[in-house]
Amino acid sequence: MKIWIDGQLVDKSEAKISVFDHGVLYGDGVFEGIRIYDGCIYRLEQHLDRLWSSAKYIKLTIPMTQEEMTRAIIETVRANGLRDGYIRLGVTRGIGDLGLNPNNCPSPTVFIIADQIRLFPQELYDNGIEVISAAVQRQPVSALNPRVKSCNYLNNILARIEANNAGAHEAIILDLRGFVVECTADNIFVVRRGVLTTPPVYLGALRGITRDAVIEIAREQGREVREEPFTLYEVYDADEVFVTGTAAELVPVVKVDGRTIGEGKPGPIFRHLLEEFRRRAPRDGVMIDS
Ligand code: PMP
Repeated sequence: MKIWIDGQLVDKSEAKISVFDHGVLYGDGVFEGIRIYDGCIYRLEQHLDRLWSSAKYIKLTIPMTQEEMTRAIIETVRANGLRDGYIRLGVTRGIGDLGLNPNNCPSPTVFIIADQIRLFPQELYDNGIEVISAAVQRQPVSALNPRVKSCNYLNNILARIEANNAGAHEAIILDLRGFVVECTADNIFVVRRGVLTTPPVYLGALRGITRDAVIEIAREQGREVREEPFTLYEVYDADEVFVTGTAAELVPVVKVDGRTIGEGKPGPIFRHLLEEFRRRAPRDGVMIDS
């Protein structure tokens, strides 16, 4: 496997980051996870826009343009002979001293990994997953805004540990007032009487690329989609619940905190949306051959 790091494609065994990199010392950096569908880098522009927005928030200057980044990504995907896969992009503050001051880190580290995708088992799409609500809460937007896809994922990891302990696949994270925000690595939608609702990003949810695509598809299918706050009450009471994310695409949720959702099996709206999402994905992005 070839990894792109700071302008060079190197062997996986040589793709290393210094222990003085503030990405390692302080989680000071930002990242993206992107799918490749049949030679198409899914919504690359949106992913790069989000990466640049995340970097701006932490006052990190990415040392290349989006065009240069696009070329580097295509080069990496081609070098690994991938037509389907998963890309991980990372930009860290770079090498500094042991203090946290970013001013002492003169050049950011940029890396691109293009790997096989580990798909979720088909069984999860057919039968749905069980999720729990986590005790750990979403940090307020006045702290590190969770819209930033930063290398500080410990809050999400703590929620994920709760899901693991409960034998669940995902955990719903609530804000300090009890409004549902998102899951540990996915956004969430509830469906009630044909209307889709997902939490607004101002509550502190990542603006998922998959979330955006699902909203677009649902609206084109003539469905009402609301971005408004709701609580666990609306989740338990929903006809359908599903989560969305780059790796997951759309995954149906059939049980939340021990409550069966709807009829306890994936619902028709979820199935229509997943089918349409998958139909569009291989043409919705940057082709590696062009
Ligand atoms: N929320 C969080 C916290 C995430 O890390 C992710 C990405 N895995 C998502 C939502 C989904 O975003 P996307 O559809 O862009 O992958």
